[in-house]
Amino acid sequence: MDKNIRICIVGGGPAGLSAGMYLEKKGYENYTILERLDRVGGKCWSPTYNGRRYEMGAIMGVPSYYAVHDVEEFCGITHDGPKLNRNYKNKNGDVIEPFEPKKNILKIPRLLKMKKQVKKLGEILETKYKGYDVNGHRGVAEGRYDGFSQANAKREPISGTNPNLKDLCLPFNEFCRINGVELTQDIWIGPYTSFGYGYFDEIPAAYVLKYLDFQTCMNFVKVNLWTWKNGTQYIWEQLNDHLKHPARLNSTIDKVERKDGKVLVTVNGQVEEYDKIIVTAPLYIPNKRADGQKGMVEYFDAREDEKALFSKIDYERYDVLAVETKPEDHPEISYYVFENMQKDRLGHLMVYYRRWKDTKDQVITTYALRKHKDTREIPYEECRQMVLDDLKTMHNPASNVINEWSVYYFPHVFSKDYADGWYDKVEAMQGKYDTYYAGEVMSFGDMDETAEYSRELVERFF
Ligand SMILES: Cc1cc2nc3c(=O)[nH]c(=O)nc-3n(C[C@H](O)[C@H](O)[C@H](O)COP(=O)(O)OP(=O)(O)OC[C@H]3O[C@@H](n4cnc5c(N)ncnc54)[C@H](O)[C@@H]3O)c2cc1C
Repeated sequence: MDKNIRICIVGGGPAGLSAGMYLEKKGYENYTILERLDRVGGKCWSPTYNGRRYEMGAIMGVPSYYAVHDVEEFCGITHDGPKLNRNYKNKNGDVIEPFEPKKNILKIPRLLKMKKQVKKLGEILETKYKGYDVNGHRGVAEGRYDGFSQANAKREPISGTNPNLKDLCLPFNEFCRINGVELTQDIWIGPYTSFGYGYFDEIPAAYVLKYLDFQTCMNFVKVNLWTWKNGTQYIWEQLNDHLKHPARLNSTIDKVERKDGKVLVTVNGQVEEYDKIIVTAPLYIPNKRADGQKGMVEYFDAREDEKALFSKIDYERYDVLAVETKPEDHPEISYYVFENMQKDRLGHLMVYYRRWKDTKDQVITTYALRKHKDTREIPYEECRQMVLDDLKTMHNPASNVINEWSVYYFPHVFSKDYADGWYDKVEAMQGKYDTYYAGEVMSFGDMDETAEYSRELVERFF
C-alpha cells in the first residue's frame, strides 16, 4: 500500500492509539486519530484523588501483555504500580479462604478434583485445542486457527486446521462439561465474571480462553500481575505524547461517507477527506446510552452487510463506583465475593479494590454486572443501591460516592452467531468499503488484546 495514504482512525483508546503507533513504525505517517472526549485512553481512565491516580477502568496486566510492552518500550515507561493483593468474602461479609484445604476440610475432595481438572484443561488446551490462543477469532467457527501466536513476544503468524476448535463456540460452561473440567470454572470465574465479562452460561468459550489462556489464568492465580503507578491511562497518555500525530480531542464525527474510493468525514462541522478509515469505536450499540455514545452504523453510511452483522453485537452493563470510606471502615485489602458472581445474584457487588495499601485516604472502587442475556436488565440506580448496601454488609460502608460510570463494556456476540461464522464474515469485509474494523469486539475487551489486534491489522493490510 502507498505509504502516503491518508488514514483516519476513530477512537483514541488503546486500539486507536496503538494503531497509530504500529502504522508509524511501518512508515505510514499520514494518519489522524479522532477522539470524541477531552482525554485519551478510553476505558483506561485514571482520575486523580488526594494527589494519586485511581482506576475507574482498566487496572492490571500480565507479563504476556506483549503489545502493551511494545507501547512501554516506545515511550520509555514501565509497569511501576502498587502490588495487587486480594482476599475473599462470602455474601454475608465474612472473610473466607475458599482455596485453602485446611480451612475447608469438607471441601477437600472437591478441591483435589478441581486441581486435577485444572491440570487436564492445561493439557487439552495445548493438544486437543491447539491454536486456541491466537489473537482474534478468524477461522474458529470453521475449525481453523489463523493469527499471530501469543506464545512469546515474537508473535509469529501461524495457521492450521483443527476441527476441535469449533467447541470454542459453545458457552464456556458447556465447553467445560463436554471436556469433563467443570470445576475449573471455580478458578476462571474470578478474573472473568467479576471483571465484567459476563456469565459462563452465556459467553462463548473462545472469549474466555483467548483472554484467560492457561498461562494468563495462572498469572492471576499467582498474582503475577502488572499495574501502573499513574494508572493505566498513563500508558496511553504517554503513547499519545510520543506519536507524531497525537489524537485530536473533542472531535465530534457527524457523518462518514465512503464513495469513489474516498472517505469523507464530517468532524466538528468540517468535511475532511481520507483514503482509508479504521474504526476502533463501538460498531453497534443496541440501546440509547446516557453518555451519548453511538455505534458506527448510526453515523456512517452503513451498508446492509455492516448493519446486518453489527446488529448482532451486545455488550455488558458493567458499573463502577469510586467511594470514600471513614478510615475505620476502609478495607484492609481488595475482596472478591464469589457468591455474587452467580447469575441469581446479578447486580450485587462482585469485587472491590483497594489500590493503595499505605494509606486510607484513597478511594475504593466497586464492580457489578446488571445484565444477563436471559434476564431483566437491572436499572442503574437499583444496582448502585445494591452495591452500596453490599458494602455495608461487607463491613466497609461508603461515606460518599465520588465518581461513577456505567460503561459500554466487552462488546461480543453470543454462541449462535459465533458458530454461524460472524467473525469470518466480518473479517472478509476488512477493507471492503475502505474501512477496517478494530477495537474490542474484534478480539477481546482488554488493553492488550485490542492493541495486539491493531498490530495485526496493520501487519495484514498495510
Ligand atoms: C472497569 C474496567 C476494568 C477493566 N479492567 C481491565 C484490566 O484490568 N486489564 C485490561 O487489560 N483491560 C481492562 N479493561 C478493559 C480495557 O480498558 C479495554 O478493553 C480497552 O480500553 C479497550 O480499548 P479500545 O481502544 O478498543 O476501546 P476503548 O478503551 O473503549 O476506547 C475507545 C475510544 O473511542 C472513543 N470513541 C467512541 N466513539 C467515538 C466516536 N464516535 N468518535 C470518536 N471517538 C469515539 C471513546 O471515547 C474511547 O476513547 C477494563 C475496563 C473497565 C471499564
